[in-house]
Amino acid sequence: MGNVNHASDRDRMVDSQIQNPYDSRPPVVDDAVLRAMRKVPRHLFVPEEHQNLAYEDRPLPIGHGQTISQPYIVAIMTELLKLESQHRVLEVGTGSGYQAAVLAEIAGEVYSVEIVESLAMLARERLAALDYRNVTVRAGDGYLGWPEYAPFDAIIATAAPKDVPQSLIDQLKPGGRMVLPVGPAWRTQMLKLVERHSDGSITRDNIMAVGFVPMIRDKG
Ligand code: SAH
Repeated sequence: MGNVNHASDRDRMVDSQIQNPYDSRPPVVDDAVLRAMRKVPRHLFVPEEHQNLAYEDRPLPIGHGQTISQPYIVAIMTELLKLESQHRVLEVGTGSGYQAAVLAEIAGEVYSVEIVESLAMLARERLAALDYRNVTVRAGDGYLGWPEYAPFDAIIATAAPKDVPQSLIDQLKPGGRMVLPVGPAWRTQMLKLVERHSDGSITRDNIMAVGFVPMIRDKG
């Protein structure tokens, strides 16, 4: 009790779900990622009625039919990006802003696009209140990326398109890495790592089966 900041809950979350998962999930080992997961106050990114579940091993509803991803998934996707402090990162699917905060703890600049305007506004306010000055949130369709700030060292999508969007591949720097779920709506999807190598070639790897909300498109 008296642990208003929930630091010990986060330590327990990282130990039992992320660093030494109690099941067959591959552990996350990157120190910068583990440090960020111990630091970002996840309970402040979930609706008040679910705050008691903020450090559990599960996604949670954030309104508008959307969810904040399971902590382990946030950690493993962030690790796959191999972020460095000078990196510029694009996120598609700001949602609560939690993943953006984790990225912002490690990378230099984070640009995040959210298609539901009220979620974008709430995330922007929340991130400002927590003093994340290196995150810029825009309301819009992130399928097309964010050409004004491209190219990016890393791209992460937290909603699943049916196929890897060519528009996002085109906004990766040489040496850049993209992590995203790909597959049909409301079915199991595949978490993929897409790399643009310095010789210009593109490779894709399948990482694990995941379940994300679908990436929706603006009409018109
Ligand atoms: N990263 C978020 C997870 C949000 S769930 C977090 O940490 O909380 C995925 C989000 O993607 C939803 O908020 C959904 O509205 C958004 N989304 C779906 N399609 C999108 C698109 N085309 N462009 C931008 N955001 C999109």
